[in-house]
Amino acid sequence: MKSQDKQKNPKIDTNKKKAAPQKMQIREGTTLKEFSEKLGIKGKNLIEKLKEKKFTVNLNDVITQRLMDPISKITQQSIEIISLEKEKQQKADKKDEVSSPPVVTIMGHVDHGKTTLLDAIRKSNLVGKESGGITQHIGAYKILYKDRPITFIDTPGHEAFTRLRARGAQVTDIVILIVAADDGVMPQTREAIHHAKSANVPIIVAINKIDKDNIDIDKVKQQLSKEGLLVEDWGGDVISVEISAKKNKNIDELLEMILLLSEVIELKGNPETQAQGVILEARLDSKKGPIATVIIRQGVLQRGDYFISGYCHGKARALFDEKGKPLKSAGLSTPVEVLGFCSVPSAGDLFQVVSHPEDARHIASLREEQSKKKEQPQRREHLSLDELFKKIEEGEVKELPLIIKADVQGSVEVLSDILPGLASKEVKINIVHAATGNITETDVLLASASNAIILGYNIKPNTKIIDIAREENVEIRYYNVIYNLTDDIKKALKGMLEPKIKEVYLGRAEVRRLFHIPKVGVIAGCYVTDGKIRRNAEIKIIRSGETVYRGKISSLKHVKENVNEVKKEYECGIGVDKFKDIQEGDIIEAYTLEKE
Ligand code: GDP
Repeated sequence: MKSQDKQKNPKIDTNKKKAAPQKMQIREGTTLKEFSEKLGIKGKNLIEKLKEKKFTVNLNDVITQRLMDPISKITQQSIEIISLEKEKQQKADKKDEVSSPPVVTIMGHVDHGKTTLLDAIRKSNLVGKESGGITQHIGAYKILYKDRPITFIDTPGHEAFTRLRARGAQVTDIVILIVAADDGVMPQTREAIHHAKSANVPIIVAINKIDKDNIDIDKVKQQLSKEGLLVEDWGGDVISVEISAKKNKNIDELLEMILLLSEVIELKGNPETQAQGVILEARLDSKKGPIATVIIRQGVLQRGDYFISGYCHGKARALFDEKGKPLKSAGLSTPVEVLGFCSVPSAGDLFQVVSHPEDARHIASLREEQSKKKEQPQRREHLSLDELFKKIEEGEVKELPLIIKADVQGSVEVLSDILPGLASKEVKINIVHAATGNITETDVLLASASNAIILGYNIKPNTKIIDIAREENVEIRYYNVIYNLTDDIKKALKGMLEPKIKEVYLGRAEVRRLFHIPKVGVIAGCYVTDGKIRRNAEIKIIRSGETVYRGKISSLKHVKENVNEVKKEYECGIGVDKFKDIQEGDIIEAYTLEKE
């Protein structure tokens, strides 16, 4: 377990590099008055200087993203807005830390036995088995094994794991990688390994289905070694247990190993600080209102505590465990259902207890306001090739994480071989994940969670994925020639990449009817479903999620009139320059091109 020894418990993963020392951290919701006082400067002067830069503000205004740049320039002080949760986390005293029970996620290929294993563990060891309650699905459950608690996330697989990480929260301390002995390492096994590794979470291998005939355990171990997981009896440092989830064989041994590993990696939490956790699941109950399952990562949540979670604030009116039993409090690593949210929070949101309800209300409403203006201080910045060099120079980036998706295995292998060799003295290239096939939502989430750039080779761009990537702030670059791809990476490392031309999305229209007009050609009768369509915009035509044409609009009409722009929820007639094959059901997306 040598390398795993070194792995720290990442707890809540903000996935941000440590702030450069000269950066001043201010908590979200800080006003210009509070900021000036902290810096020892006159607030009035700051307001005047901001006015000169065309920012009309007053002392009680909150510092948001748009003011950061001018303020930094005026005060010669680079600043960083941190969330309330991060501030509380930084303030928590390390000396109060105690060992914290492990939170475990089971991952692996479909049908390799994840659900069977979760059921087997739940049935045999659930806390309070004697009370006879029926377990409900709340997203996680806690067991006691030899009087020691272990929490299992009830949604197996890496999608949920990575979705939480992409939201900035890491709840898993240990991953159980389950591999069926009769099937071996499969694509999702590989994917799970990449997801766990990029999260820096230690892995225990469970080789399952050993009750079956025709199994080859050594072959599985050999396949795992190819993926960089060398098990202990092969001289490596990865724990492996041979089990049968169906026949309940060696499950105790597996639990024993979880406890052993959690001791080795020294999982810690601070029970004295105000409780902090992560939302695992949330729903609206018709009788009880919004309910969410929270996994507690720091402190002890008490019934009656005030809290904030994303845009929601509230008071923990009632707490329940996975058997629906009311609790007075919930400690480290405990999954608990909480009642009392003002609205339904999102999975992956942090959950933070605060001293005063007005603080929670104030910050929650500021967050909502800023999200409407798309000005979230917590919005996660991600790496882009254009900005790479600047970040290298600033010392913020020491590694370029990449995800490679390509048409065939041969291309994946070639790229996985060549790219690490392009590393410079300052920057290492880290291939987080490489696989064949189109880019999926999980790839984008993995990129978001691990600050990676996605390189697509010989695959077609897909609009849904591009939208998700835009939402997550993740860069995707598509290539058809290997030289162009490697050349871009080399140039990006040296700061010589030409500025990229960025597509700025304007809107979308759906083609509802086609009109064949003599001498003019085909006009698409459309309905604008989002944003706006502009006469002089660039357009692409999307069919079944794929772009089939790029070009210009030749005419734009609304009720027979030529117009410059048509907004959402209006009908229009669009003539498409040079494209004869337009069809009903196609989507016309309008955009402009701008230099980044
Ligand atoms: P998941 O897709 O990874 O959640 O896999 P499941 O837990 O649904 O299991 C897939 C199939 O494998 C089911 O038919 C299980 O009964 C079977 N299975 C799971 N574990 C074992 C095992 O240890 N031995 C045998 N023989 N079958 C198993």
